Amino acid sequence: MPHSSLLTTKVYLLLGSNEGNRLEWFDKAMDLLRAGGCVVVAQSAVYETAAWGKEDQPDFLNMALCVATTLLPLQLLALTQSIEHQLGRQRTVKWGQRTLDIDILLYGNEVVDTPALQVPHPQLPNRRFALVPLADVAANLVHPTLHTTISGLLAVCPDALAVRKYEF
Ligand code: AMP
Repeated sequence: MPHSSLLTTKVYLLLGSNEGNRLEWFDKAMDLLRAGGCVVVAQSAVYETAAWGKEDQPDFLNMALCVATTLLPLQLLALTQSIEHQLGRQRTVKWGQRTLDIDILLYGNEVVDTPALQVPHPQLPNRRFALVPLADVAANLVHPTLHTTISGLLAVCPDALAVRKYEF
């Protein structure tokens, strides 16, 4: 993937998985992010969240990453979607669904609002399963449009779903 900027931006990603060897998908996703031009600067603990809405689903694991990259937002989206596709394909053969989801939570202080990509991720303030891991790596970071820190957003997050640290 070409690098068309010389500037490195700090980006926050959320990995999620609820099928197969969930931790293994996270490791593979990090390897593929590195291979695609991202330096993993920090990673959160891994958290487990009961799936809701559809109760017959296995629990999710989530982890937030801080990565440094020269990829532009849409280039980064192409990379994360290609990683989802590569890892999802492996699972599709066996289970018929995706294994790994990658959300771009924040891209520096930039605001992106296109049909393909909205950053900051619009659901971030509503999702405890995103805010809890993100707070591990960016508690004091100020959200570019809500002008509140991540820990401040967590304190007022309306989502009551339990997010527990996953011991492994
Ligand atoms: P999902 O299936 O829930 O992972 O949603 C994937 C879709 O969300 C893709 O079509 C993306 O183009 C779109 N999308 C919009 N904003 C974002 C974002 N910040 N991070 C990841 N995907 C995004």
